[in-house]
Amino acid sequence: MEIDTFSPEETHAAGRRVAQDLEPGAVICLVGDLGAGKTVFAQGIADGLGIDEPVCSPTFTLIQEYGGGRLMLYHFDVYRIDEPWDMDDLGYEEYFYGDGVCLVEWGSLIEELLPENTIYVNIAKDNSKGFDYRRISIRGLELE
Ligand code: ADP
Ligand code: MG
Repeated sequence: MEIDTFSPEETHAAGRRVAQDLEPGAVICLVGDLGAGKTVFAQGIADGLGIDEPVCSPTFTLIQEYGGGRLMLYHFDVYRIDEPWDMDDLGYEEYFYGDGVCLVEWGSLIEELLPENTIYVNIAKDNSKGFDYRRISIRGLELE
């Protein structure tokens, strides 16, 4: 499924909408260039789960946990991961096969570790359609 957005607010709203349909154990692989809108989308997911805490990029922490919503949100950024066994050190299976929602930025770098039912979200710019245009492509999730 494709969602075209023309502002950060619309990308945020897309995240909120996706969040409505997430079930316990959902894993989302979120891919897009720097500045594509991954954090904006992640903030929409958190908002849609009812999480009040502000969501930021987990770049230097590898994982950030957010509670207080319908489901726990585990926000990973694996961009700087050197070897998949860093993920073992993190105990990733507890998260990927747990009851919360995992949002894995740059998850395609650890593709072989992602569960079979992973939801793939790609955010891409297309400057020919405007500076604020983004195409959000979603695979593996049926929206209500
Ligand atoms: P990333 O986390 O992918 O590096 P961010 O979400 O931090 O990207 O930043 C996206 C930037 O692009 C923000 O400054 C946001 O205001 C801007 N922007 C412009 N148009 C859009 C859009 N349609 N969707 C998301 N962000 C947009
Ligand atoms: Mg970001």
